[in-house]
Amino acid sequence: MSFAELGLSKPITEAISEMGYTSPTPIQAQSIPAILQGKDVLAAAQTGTGKTAAFVLPILEQLRSQPRASNKEVKALIITPTRELAAQIDANVKAYAKHLKLRHQVVFGGVNIKPQIRQLVLGCDVLTATPGRLLDLYGQGMLDLSKLQILVLDEADRMLDMGFIHDIRKLIKLLPKKRQNLLFSATFAGEIRKLAHGLLNQPVEVSV
Ligand code: AMP
Repeated sequence: MSFAELGLSKPITEAISEMGYTSPTPIQAQSIPAILQGKDVLAAAQTGTGKTAAFVLPILEQLRSQPRASNKEVKALIITPTRELAAQIDANVKAYAKHLKLRHQVVFGGVNIKPQIRQLVLGCDVLTATPGRLLDLYGQGMLDLSKLQILVLDEADRMLDMGFIHDIRKLIKLLPKKRQNLLFSATFAGEIRKLAHGLLNQPVEVSV
């Protein structure tokens, strides 16, 4: 099975082969076709399985032929619990989108908000964020979430462990009803099941 057979096009398969990836990992092989079909996905996967590419690559594929986001718009939003994870995901977006004309950005707390605002006002096709800073930026009127097409909750179990559930619920209420939802988590105990149930619409379940 190749990345092209999963439905990814040349600018994307070229970028990943330049990174040295030769074939998809199991989580990628299972998730990418479902995400490209526009389905909601519930994925059980640990770090190290290639889960970041499993959601980033099909997001890029879906956005690549659309006009770029403009004026505070965000098209795809990836929420993750820590600044390290956020920075890592955005670095991957940058590498995978090397041959595409897409705007991507990362925002997290603990650093000056002003440079983040200056970038966001231009619009952002793929935004990676930690929950608190994202709500802060929204509260300041710096984000237009009305065009959002795809939401990813990455490491959802860790976000709940870290007490982000209220922020996540607040955030979900700000999004358009019609959107694609992807939830990645290492575990699926109590609270996660509840969140997934409320968030996802007939999800494809993937587990590796
Ligand atoms: P992740 O689980 O997303 O944290 O990814 C773990 C590591 O695997 C990262 O360093 C990725 O760059 C790498 N990786 C992801 N997909 C592939 C692949 N298909 N082939 C080789 N390496 C990969």
